[in-house]
Amino acid sequence: MDLPTPLPTIQPSAGPLVDTFGRAADDLRISVTDRCNFRCTYCMPAEGLAWLPKTEILTFEELTRLLAIFVGLGVRSLKVTGGEPTVRADLPTLVRMFREVGPELDISMTTNGVLLDRLAEPLAEAGMDRVTVSCDSLMRHRFEEMTRRDALDRVLAGIVAAKQAGLVPIKINCVVIGGQNEGEVVEFARWSRETGYAVRFIEYMPLDAQHEWERAKVVPSASVLEAIEAVYPLIQEGPDHEPATSFRFADGAPGGIGVIASVTEPFCDSCNRVRVTAEGQVRACLFALDETDLRGPMRAGASDDDLVDLIRGNVWRKWSGHRINHPDFVQPERSMSAIGG
Ligand code: SAM
Repeated sequence: MDLPTPLPTIQPSAGPLVDTFGRAADDLRISVTDRCNFRCTYCMPAEGLAWLPKTEILTFEELTRLLAIFVGLGVRSLKVTGGEPTVRADLPTLVRMFREVGPELDISMTTNGVLLDRLAEPLAEAGMDRVTVSCDSLMRHRFEEMTRRDALDRVLAGIVAAKQAGLVPIKINCVVIGGQNEGEVVEFARWSRETGYAVRFIEYMPLDAQHEWERAKVVPSASVLEAIEAVYPLIQEGPDHEPATSFRFADGAPGGIGVIASVTEPFCDSCNRVRVTAEGQVRACLFALDETDLRGPMRAGASDDDLVDLIRGNVWRKWSGHRINHPDFVQPERSMSAIGG
């Protein structure tokens, strides 16, 4: 019988960006700003957060330098995130710079969509491949309740603009919260069938700045699927590189459903993600308590090799999985918007 190859006990200095459990990080999320123009109740308070001063945010050149380093380390996909990435001034210029250092990269963005009506076209021209738009309700009053912005119509117009600009396939992210939008999941499925957008339902995670998360408000993905299946039978798609488990409609209708069961069925064993925050901290897990600063060393003259070492070290120390379901769980200091969800 073949024995599994033992992992090296010291951090590798070549090859893929791996951790001690053998997972390779090839999916990078870069936050381009901590600021957001929405105030989703499950993410941040109505008054917003203390935004970082401009000087603390990585410049376009710094962000692009880091991306080039990550590409050299085997990263194959980049998600541009925030805060709300579209509020970063001149985002298309940054995307163009990203495209230059990663001609083969899959470049996408997660956005609340409210500025896409004017940005979709320039972003597509700059080299962005596709977008994921967050949308928690298809009802105007509930959308406003959950985001604290009366912006459903603009978001829907933004999604159409993204489609027209070719930023496809379009994915929709919907955070399902008990007592709020859980009754809308079948309507979202109907909308998916009608529009062709893939709708992904995300479990509510303890990453809100207010620390008001309650387990009782987490709607398990299994019950979301059960509700949809009762109306629109689903067929599970083969596993891919996504945290979402994906389904297509059994009757062949367009669109599809995904569930991201971060709380009830964590997928840490297959996690291939690594993140860089807007001020240049590397995080190997959304819930990480350990970050590695890249901005300080970069501004002090660190070489690319020095930065590679710091990145490798952070990923190498990645823990086996988040502790949400353990009594010793500690919510990270940063909220989702400050990490770059
Ligand atoms: N503003 C962009 C957007 O809306 O996609 C990017 C950043 S936002 C923090 C990324 C995603 O995180 C959104 O889909 C948002 O709904 C989700 N999110 C924020 N707080 C969350 C929480 N506590 N639990 C689960 N998802 C959350």
